[in-house]
Amino acid sequence: MPARVSEALVLRTYPLKEADLVVSFLTRDQGKLRGVAKRARRPKSPFGAGLERLSYVRMSYFQRETRELVNLDSCELIRSQFDLVSDYRSGVALDYFAEVSEQMLPAAEANEKFFRLLLAVLDYLRPGGDAESAGRAWCAATYFSLWALRLSGWLPELHVCLGCGAVLDDPESLERAYFSRGRAGLVCGHCRRLPGVGSNWELGVESRTIAAEMLRQPVAQFSQNRWTSTTAADLRRFLVQQIESHAERRLVTAPLLEESVAAP
Ligand SMILES: [Zn+2]
Repeated sequence: MPARVSEALVLRTYPLKEADLVVSFLTRDQGKLRGVAKRARRPKSPFGAGLERLSYVRMSYFQRETRELVNLDSCELIRSQFDLVSDYRSGVALDYFAEVSEQMLPAAEANEKFFRLLLAVLDYLRPGGDAESAGRAWCAATYFSLWALRLSGWLPELHVCLGCGAVLDDPESLERAYFSRGRAGLVCGHCRRLPGVGSNWELGVESRTIAAEMLRQPVAQFSQNRWTSTTAADLRRFLVQQIESHAERRLVTAPLLEESVAAP
């Protein structure tokens, strides 16, 4: 049984038997794995607080070719997200990151860029001042959704109408753009009116500009002050719908993220 040590982010745990946990975790070098952590729910377990959601750890485990589940041996905490959970919106954003990663990533397929994306948005959420805490969560969730789709190969074309092929963001003649659930892309104002197309939501010009910027720049470059609950809300809706159609299920955490707009 070869022993491995991988940097990892814990995505989710499920209780197993009396004292054990099944842990889904994303490693930097081996992709998403699932393993059994024996006695993890007992006091003085070798896992300590390392199995909290999105804990950044060095995980020691044994992998057997014939088994889907690895055996977790222990973990060493590199960084807990405990300081983020005290902020309600950041806590909801963590739930959202973990759920999307769990749903989108295939098992045992290395995706180091996705791993680094998670580290970057977690860093971005860290407080710089209370006033911008809401802005941070919105910006991080939007950035993460966009790049999670791109790094999974599921980000649709954002510049061209799916119906007629018209360029939507030609600066000489900017077209309005619409989306609907289950359609992988955008349609122009003309195609939207064709029978059977019926696109329900508009993706505004400001949000399309933000999406283009996000695809060019690291998240740390985005000013948090600029973000309110309504900034790019249409873009988040579009991205969540795209994620949901590929995951073939609704995300539990997506409505919580939008509802936290109203939270004090
Ligand atoms: Zn069109």
